[in-house]
Amino acid sequence: MTDTINRRRFLQFSAASVLGATPSATGASPATPFIAGLSSRQAPLPRASGPRVVVVGGGWAGLTLAKYLKRFQPRFDVVLIDRHALFVSCPLSNLWMAQQIPLEFLAHSYLDAARNNDYLFFNATVIDLDRGARKIHTEQGYIHYDYLVLAPGIDYDYARLGVDDPTDEYALRTDYPAGFTGASELLTIKNKLQGFKGGTFLLTVPAGNYRCMAAPYERACMAAAIFRKHGIKGKVLLLDMNPDVRIKRDGFLNAFKTFYPDIIQYETSVGISAIDPRKRKLSTDFDDYDFDDAAIYPPVRASRLLERLALADMNTPQKEARIDPFKYHLLGDEHVYICGDARSQPFSKSGNTANSEAKYVAEVIVAHVDGREIPWRSPQTMCFSGVHIDPLEAMSIIAFYRYDRRQKTFAFDRTHMVEKWSARIGQAGLAWGEGMYRDMFYG
Ligand SMILES: Cc1cc2nc3c(=O)[nH]c(=O)nc-3n(C[C@H](O)[C@H](O)[C@H](O)COP(=O)(O)OP(=O)(O)OC[C@H]3O[C@@H](n4cnc5c(N)ncnc54)[C@H](O)[C@@H]3O)c2cc1C
Repeated sequence: MTDTINRRRFLQFSAASVLGATPSATGASPATPFIAGLSSRQAPLPRASGPRVVVVGGGWAGLTLAKYLKRFQPRFDVVLIDRHALFVSCPLSNLWMAQQIPLEFLAHSYLDAARNNDYLFFNATVIDLDRGARKIHTEQGYIHYDYLVLAPGIDYDYARLGVDDPTDEYALRTDYPAGFTGASELLTIKNKLQGFKGGTFLLTVPAGNYRCMAAPYERACMAAAIFRKHGIKGKVLLLDMNPDVRIKRDGFLNAFKTFYPDIIQYETSVGISAIDPRKRKLSTDFDDYDFDDAAIYPPVRASRLLERLALADMNTPQKEARIDPFKYHLLGDEHVYICGDARSQPFSKSGNTANSEAKYVAEVIVAHVDGREIPWRSPQTMCFSGVHIDPLEAMSIIAFYRYDRRQKTFAFDRTHMVEKWSARIGQAGLAWGEGMYRDMFYG
């Protein structure tokens, strides 16, 4: 029946199109842009079965929140929204580029996560927010919420590289992607490294609190290891906007010297003034660097979604959320929370930090519903960095945070760093990843 109707409608539509008929000639009402009706359309979801908590962003923070909100308060009706249909992990992706793990290790199903943990997954893009009416809008319609949590991650800020021309920015984004947000970027960089014909492969390390402090240095090691393995006559030019290696300093400098003295060229305090993607030239006030291929990592900022929804503090350099630093709610609205890499606290922008923080934020929201408060708990940062392959050898760091009342900011606390790499830590890093995916995707 449905088939018949669809075929008849399709035939009518095709006939009208072929004859060049106007809407009035076919009897239809004049075409209204789809978007005009969007704000009055409800998203196609089951009716809420309890207080509805909508989580925006199915990354490390959002996936953890969705699961633990439901676990800590089974009455909640939880909806997780992500614009992507498939989760591909950024953590451990450098090891995948160097063929130490398969893609299946990194790729996971949102549908499994939702089914296993009794929440709804909605594959849509968030475009607007009406806090007065407690409605979040997507391109497929709006959803009413009782509580809203935003965990949309980061965006790149090419302007802080001196790149303001949209054509240049587009060329950098597509020809020399950073590889710190999306799966396509990661796949492109893997293909570039594995197929490199030789010459200079440029990698950059941004200034500021960028996503995963250790990852650019780890990527340099993996790129050099790939060139060595495939006999590629290539150099990795690692240009750091910072005065020194940002984390695991001694370990990375030692690894560059021990394993890749003839491949990695590491330069510090590089103040980038311009990049010409067509001439493949990066300029500072003092030098020009030519390159044959590159993955250029610009400084980062909180996701532009926060700015669009008027939730960002535009006076901060990274335009992060205006939130209470202990309870994570938007200042002045205890029904809207922001966490993960879009947070304003200066914690490490890492997956483990987002995961541990999200469990705490889920508890904060459950307590708010009950009219209680819970004591602040530090997130935990845990990061493994591969420096050598076949066998994989890695270093590690685990750290917490404390609030320094005099400085009015957070600082590292109880840090445990192992800069002597080993195959044992390499395996521990893979086991960590498996444990995290199990936590986020299984019951
Ligand atoms: C190469 C690399 C290596 C790393 N290594 C490590 C590591 O070893 N250990 C570690 O702990 N961390 C590591 N990280 C960091 C880690 O990936 C991030 O810190 C983590 O992903 C942050 O989680 P998040 O949930 O805040 O953001 P994300 O994981 O980026 O998730 C944000 C989600 O929001 C969605 N979204 C955004 N806007 C919208 C919208 N408008 N509508 C719908 N959905 C939207 C996005 O699609 C995305 O899925 C690494 C990162 C990279 C790139």
